[in-house]
Amino acid sequence: MINQIEAVTKEINDHTKGKASLVVGSTNPIKIQAAKNALGDTDMDVIGCPASSGARPQPLSEEETRQGAINRAKDCLLKTDADFGIGLEAGIFFLNDNIYLCHWGALVDRNENVYISNSPLILLPNEYRKPLLAGQNLGEIMHHSIGIQDLEAKEGAIGIFTENRLNCEQLLTEVVTVLLAQHHYYQEHSQVAIKPEQSPNCIFCKIARQEKKADVVAKFKYCYAMKDAYPVSNGHILIIPYEHTENWFTAREEVRLDIMEAVHKMKEELDLEYAPDGYNIGANCGEIAGQSVMHLHVHLIPRYNGDMADPKGGVRGVIPSKQKY
Ligand code: AMP
Ligand code: ZN
Repeated sequence: MINQIEAVTKEINDHTKGKASLVVGSTNPIKIQAAKNALGDTDMDVIGCPASSGARPQPLSEEETRQGAINRAKDCLLKTDADFGIGLEAGIFFLNDNIYLCHWGALVDRNENVYISNSPLILLPNEYRKPLLAGQNLGEIMHHSIGIQDLEAKEGAIGIFTENRLNCEQLLTEVVTVLLAQHHYYQEHSQVAIKPEQSPNCIFCKIARQEKKADVVAKFKYCYAMKDAYPVSNGHILIIPYEHTENWFTAREEVRLDIMEAVHKMKEELDLEYAPDGYNIGANCGEIAGQSVMHLHVHLIPRYNGDMADPKGGVRGVIPSKQKY
């Protein structure tokens, strides 16, 4: 993987001396071709680079799919010297009793502007629900049910369900066209950085934008640490990414790594200030798991001898009757 990325970076740098360049966060030739189509006869170089989406191989919500596209765009920009990163991600989501296929795209530039766009959605047969929920990806399921192999490299699921009125390349070309057009429009019309991954009403985004006061105690590359407003124990802090992402599993790899490093650094600070006897580290992922602020945060909770009668089981206490074993 590393060698592949180095090779791609070298290729881009060799090719693009003085020229604008665009990298697509994928090695799928259809995605790369879609970007080329969208650029038309401009003089920009286009290249593909393996990129991490942070999403599951088969994203199962619109949010996960959109975040996957943003993550890919950022990741391939980080791995190369290109001027623009494009991420394209296919996913499925459930609406009422139906299952839909969706495609999200993201464009990120060197000023950290992020533009997003998506494609028309496509209804999937209801019998795909069970295997999708069991973790099978759409390609495998379609292979079993219709017998077509390697769909991604051909017309894609879109071709099948639109009876070839539209194929994957055409659809992604439209998505990239809208991304490039938005970038161009807002370059001309706005000086403000555009970051749709920051959610206007999210409390932790507001704190990141300094629109709301909070006891922020440290800042890192991708995350900040603040005192929890309702501490479980003395020194309880939250480590929170600046960018909006719902939980640990939707976060970009760089963000997760930065948070892990922040946990270590903050532990050292808390050791000095509070000298606790132990720690709990935890993240609630999803409402059912107890998450109340839907913006990723990792709790770092210092523990003290005698802070509860019998602490055995610790984080098993998320289900209090199962804490002891
Ligand atoms: P959860 O989503 O269950 O992990 O819980 C959210 C955590 O965020 C709780 O521990 C709250 O005390 C904390 N919290 C919520 N709003 C704020 C805020 N404005 N400043 C600091 N901590 C907060
Ligand atoms: Zn947020």
